[in-house]
Amino acid sequence: MGFRNLQAFNLALLAKQGWRILSNPNSLLAKVYKAKYFPYDDILNAKLGSNPSYAWRSIYNSLEVIRKGTRWRVGNGKRIHIWEDKWLPTPSTHKVISTPRDFDDFPMVSSLIDANSKWWKPDLVKALFLQSEASEILKIPLNLNLPEDSLIWLGNRRGSFLVKSAYYVAKELVEFEAACASSSNHLASPFWKKIWHVNAPPKIKIFAWRVCLDALPTMLNLRRRGLNTAGFCQICDKELESISHALFHCNHAKQTWSCWSDCPVNLYSPTCDFIDITSQIMEKGSSSDLGLLLMVTWSIWGIGTMPFIMMLAALLLKFGRLLKGFHKINVDGATNNNGNHSSIRVIIRDHTGATIDALNKSLPSAFPAPTIEAFALLQGVLFAVEMGLTRVIFESDDLALIQAVNSNENGGDLGHILQDIKAQALVFNWSIFQHLKRDGNKAAHELARDAKLTGHSRTWKGVSPPFIHQILIEDML
Ligand SMILES: [Zn+2]
Repeated sequence: MGFRNLQAFNLALLAKQGWRILSNPNSLLAKVYKAKYFPYDDILNAKLGSNPSYAWRSIYNSLEVIRKGTRWRVGNGKRIHIWEDKWLPTPSTHKVISTPRDFDDFPMVSSLIDANSKWWKPDLVKALFLQSEASEILKIPLNLNLPEDSLIWLGNRRGSFLVKSAYYVAKELVEFEAACASSSNHLASPFWKKIWHVNAPPKIKIFAWRVCLDALPTMLNLRRRGLNTAGFCQICDKELESISHALFHCNHAKQTWSCWSDCPVNLYSPTCDFIDITSQIMEKGSSSDLGLLLMVTWSIWGIGTMPFIMMLAALLLKFGRLLKGFHKINVDGATNNNGNHSSIRVIIRDHTGATIDALNKSLPSAFPAPTIEAFALLQGVLFAVEMGLTRVIFESDDLALIQAVNSNENGGDLGHILQDIKAQALVFNWSIFQHLKRDGNKAAHELARDAKLTGHSRTWKGVSPPFIHQILIEDML
């Protein structure tokens, strides 16, 4: 399986024991531990105790892996704390982001569920949570028997514990702890607190920590360590590759940063290093600015040797965030049930996720699905050209189409349309075509459904059609 971090692997194995106790509370093993260490609670809230056995101490230490790798599935909601626990299906943190409200002495999810109708209390949910979060909560399915709440493992679809996925959770924990432990000696702790709390994957925070310690293998650092190199930047070959050069001053880095037009600080000051810049962003910017700074820095370093375009593409793909001046174009196609016509739809959004244009068009006859999808993509490209957009991402849920556009093939019965798409796309300064799973293309789908019902074409200029507002907001989160 290629486990490289032994400590993390051990932790994952121990977490498996913990998971067994948690998921089989009636087993002998669970009963023994429960009687001694958590008689009135479940294992995740257990205390280490005054004289713990070696086995229990080991399991106890691994519980954080379970906390990190799971979320609650709502049964009756009695065990789930609304504001503290992870229970939303949203993939980011699974926690509620709406501001906590004091509405009840009993802030458990069960108070949001109507015991009679066995369903959510929609008015209460809408009053307590942000609109998008409320609509997400109201979509969480409930079992009419209101069973006990249960923890599900996030690493796989079946929700079951696998050592392999636990290993990845454990590895991040181990690295994160190592980083925290060593950082506490090095720098003022408010600085690190902000870094550790930024909304970014742990590997990016660890990267930031390494940058601060000047621990990246830049050419200059390699030279210092006695490697046979002159220390010059391998990309521009003009200057010594220090961390500041690699991340901020080299041309390819500058090109990337130039997309961040509302950056609150000067990123190119020759006297500022990464720590200075980060501190300034903490002072002058928002926490999302700090997150963006770390993510972009990470991507510049990680793929610095690739062309600028590829770097940006990878950044966008990884974090689903658009930099200013970029547009995302979702395209989709559908056939109506009578089979006498098909329709395509295009939605153009700016970097904030706001719809700036939408187009819905009926085609004269019912084409096969791959053809409609290809027409939809071509229409999207033409629409973007017409609007004068320069940096664009096209998204379609037709994987084969996206693969074909990104390859050199122009054969097959759709080859001429592919050719057309590629030729038109040459106009853009920057463009990528990417596959989007059906969920993510919901807004375009809704437009498709609308076209199906009405059977005619519509264009919205400058506003998004009202019925897709909610979906657009959800897509943005
Ligand atoms: Zn350079």
